[in-house]
Amino acid sequence: AKSAGRNTYRFFNPEMQTKVMEYAEFANDIRSSIQNKDFLLYYQVQVNHHGERVGTEALLRWMHPVKGMVRPDEFIPIAEETGLIIPLGDWVLVEACQVLAGWAAHTLTQGLTLAVNISAHQLRTHDFVEKVKSTISKTGADPSKLKLEITESMLLDDIDDTIEKMRALQAIGVTFALDDFGTGYSSLSYLKRLPLDQLKIDKTFVRDLLTDTQDADIASTIVSLAKSLHLSVIAEGVEQEDQRILLASYGCLLYQGYLFGRPVSLKEFMASLETFENQ
Ligand code: C2E
Ligand code: CA
Ligand code: CA
Ligand code: CA
Repeated sequence: AKSAGRNTYRFFNPEMQTKVMEYAEFANDIRSSIQNKDFLLYYQVQVNHHGERVGTEALLRWMHPVKGMVRPDEFIPIAEETGLIIPLGDWVLVEACQVLAGWAAHTLTQGLTLAVNISAHQLRTHDFVEKVKSTISKTGADPSKLKLEITESMLLDDIDDTIEKMRALQAIGVTFALDDFGTGYSSLSYLKRLPLDQLKIDKTFVRDLLTDTQDADIASTIVSLAKSLHLSVIAEGVEQEDQRILLASYGCLLYQGYLFGRPVSLKEFMASLETFENQ
């Protein structure tokens, strides 16, 4: 296609056709994998400034029958475009709430919050609130331990509808975190109106925190902003102790990242808690 010259596109080049076929096949694979239960949730720990575990984030993994483990960045966009994120998101919510309900019975997991990523499409569905509520009551999960992570991009659409849904769930104790904060376009007036509990500093600002003064300034500004809005703030993608120390100096006292633990299977996550306890 490149030989056709700059800014020239042939409509049916073989490359494109392959892409279209791959896309359709991928969508089919997602469909059958939902049925075959080839998806699973990994859990990544969140800690406070004392190093105590305070929560976890559930991260979706796909055990593709042929390709093996596929990362969410590779299939979530396709799941969103095809609408398959709805059944997939339903599964994630049920699975996460079941796990959360089970955690109440164990001393090591009691009190941990569980954060679940919600896609824009899910939030848009008219029965979103009912679905979350019925999942909570069916599984027996403690709603005050369930945190829903939403992103800025979903807020632009219909802010009033979003606020209404958030309020309805907040009324039963569910909390909300604004994920990837700083990467989108949310205006401060939106931010003020949203019934949020937490801002998540995106990992792209944490990555070069120690060398890039702009990133450092952004991170510190987000912490101040969270403070003035009376929201808690957590940094994601924390890989080095020096990053944690700098974030702490800004007043960010909650962290998630490889420094504390990678996302792992439920079994590994439970085992890591035991090891920690026995140290
Ligand atoms: P996210 O919500 O921003 O999740 C954080 C991502 O950062 C995860 O990638 C996690 O594995 C990764 N991460 C955690 N600690 C570190 C670190 O110290 N360094 C670096 N470099 N990365 C770290 P993952 O698991 O590949 O997920 C990618 C994205 O896929 C998520 O980004 C989220 O947007 C989406 N996603 C994951 N699970 C779900 C889900 O159940 N539903 C929806 N709608 N989206 C999901
Ligand atoms: Ca296939
Ligand atoms: Ca997230
Ligand atoms: Ca994020």
